[in-house]
Amino acid sequence: MISDKMMNLTRNNSVIRAMFEEGKAMAKKFGPENVFDFSIGNPNVPAPREIIDSIADVVNEYDPLYLHGYMSNSGYESVRDAIANDLNKRFGTSFSENNIIMAVGAAGGMNVALKTFLNPGDEVLVIRPYFVDYRNYVENYGGIIVEVECDPKTFMPDMESLKAAITPKTKGIIINTPNNPTGAIYTAAVLDEMAKVLTDKEKEYGTSIYMVSDEPYRDLAYDGIEVPYVTRHYHNAVVVYSFSKSLSLPGERIGYIVVPSEIDDYENAFAGMAIATRILGFINAPSLMQLVVARCLDCKTDISYYDKNRKALYDGLTNLGFECVKPDGAFYLFMKAPIPDDREFCNVAKKYNLLLVPSSSFAWPGYVRIAYCVSYEKIVNSMPRFAELAKEYNL
Ligand code: PLP
Repeated sequence: MISDKMMNLTRNNSVIRAMFEEGKAMAKKFGPENVFDFSIGNPNVPAPREIIDSIADVVNEYDPLYLHGYMSNSGYESVRDAIANDLNKRFGTSFSENNIIMAVGAAGGMNVALKTFLNPGDEVLVIRPYFVDYRNYVENYGGIIVEVECDPKTFMPDMESLKAAITPKTKGIIINTPNNPTGAIYTAAVLDEMAKVLTDKEKEYGTSIYMVSDEPYRDLAYDGIEVPYVTRHYHNAVVVYSFSKSLSLPGERIGYIVVPSEIDDYENAFAGMAIATRILGFINAPSLMQLVVARCLDCKTDISYYDKNRKALYDGLTNLGFECVKPDGAFYLFMKAPIPDDREFCNVAKKYNLLLVPSSSFAWPGYVRIAYCVSYEKIVNSMPRFAELAKEYNL
């Protein structure tokens, strides 16, 4: 018999993953062109040519014993150094390789950071709506999730709710900007306000409150919007970055954690994260991909592809009468369900072969998340189906 905790998780497995499987089954039944699967955030732009070329170059150039061998748990020094320099150039920071730990994607990085910071019973704040797996990541280490409200018009965190949620047991806060599921990007002013609230509470309670900024969507921001670098706004912030979405490499499992020297207990935090990388069973981030991304730090995905989808989807759905949040970043559209029960609405949408994710999965009922990292044709061809769905609700 498996553990009670895992039994619970197998029973309530991720709705998104379940839909992804359902989408595959539906594609077999109806033909892939007749199924509109907007469930999963799997990039649809191929990895840039530079990545493919670099994979070949790295394989050919390096001594196989170095390339395929173990290295320091925190990753190759040369790679960490290249990443630190790149961040310094782009964000005016002053990191070195001693501030970078290579990670197995954002999911790996989040787990390494939380494993390092949390004692059982520590509280971690998350801002509703939030990525489903944060609860699992926090509970993996005995932490307790505490939800903070946001402004439902802008999806920016509500400062009064943030203040009220902080207790002497608050160890951290997870933020995610650009955001999954809303596409919202926190402005510098919002980060400054949050920093003030957190710093005041740290002083009041004599504690350290670490901000863990989950940033797989950092490079997916539209209309020239800048995504502020959080370590420049808050003294106890660590950043978890991933190449999964920005370079369309989710299966390769590569990212990094930025641990600034200014954070409280920096030396132990850095050493702890290197050990966490090992004892969580990763040992180190994939060696080949470390060396590949280090060569491609200037390389970016073709964001115009997602932008075109974003506009087509937002315009199409609002013209049909649906109420949508205009996303500034990531590749998700958050749409209000015309009925309060978002799960029921998703079931009805399935009749038209539209696979949407109910927002209750993000602790925010009444909406659906539509992942637009699909082909443009998919978006265009889905519109008649959405029109039928709108008709069903007299929009
Ligand atoms: N965090 C958020 C908000 C995500 O949306 C995802 C993936 O969709 C992850 C983390 C995991 O990313 P990775 O594939 O880099 O582990």
